[in-house]
Amino acid sequence: MLENIDEELVRCRPCGYVMKKSELGTGVCPACGLPHTVFEPYREKVSPKRLFILSLDIHPIAIHLSQTFVAMIPGLMIFHLIFPNFFPEILHPVISFSVFVFPLTLLLSFASGLLDGLTRFKTLETPLLKSKIIYSLLIVLLSGSVAILFKPEAYNFWIVLLSLAALGCAVKLGLMGKKLINVILPGTYQRRKKKVTGKAPAKAAAAKPKTENTQTAEE
Ligand SMILES: [Zn+2]
Repeated sequence: MLENIDEELVRCRPCGYVMKKSELGTGVCPACGLPHTVFEPYREKVSPKRLFILSLDIHPIAIHLSQTFVAMIPGLMIFHLIFPNFFPEILHPVISFSVFVFPLTLLLSFASGLLDGLTRFKTLETPLLKSKIIYSLLIVLLSGSVAILFKPEAYNFWIVLLSLAALGCAVKLGLMGKKLINVILPGTYQRRKKKVTGKAPAKAAAAKPKTENTQTAEE
């Protein structure tokens, strides 16, 4: 997956789109359609070793794992309070299991997030990373409190409220992360490349509407 990194990269100066020089040739920018003459050389600022760490996608994977629990815990509790007779013998162990496994998945998400941030940006001090860390710590605290206060098969208002608060923080974090989907970050080039190598460059361009974001994210 990493053998292509040594290839020369070029960037569309007006829209910020990055691609392999060999794929551009004398064609047009797949994102904005301007001719190849507007492209300039682009240097990937992330070393192959750091790119490899990022390409493992540990953080997104860990995030999705904990996302399952953060929504499931309050969801199942509320479901049980509304339908107490619907398979309670199955619901109770699932809820108990989730409540105690969730904080562990959060620690994995948190640790991998720090690794991801340090690998990609070499700092954790940017404003967005700071607020992501604060919201993550809030979820860790809330989920820890839920695990401590938790009494199996007896879910009270406060447990549900704390779980919902954790879910709220997760949604907030998710919205922060969503903005990055169409942005080329340092180290993202390898992933975006797949979309471009397809046979329909017009589709790749359509799938990438927020071109104005790419430039700011790259500087
Ligand atoms: Zn372009």
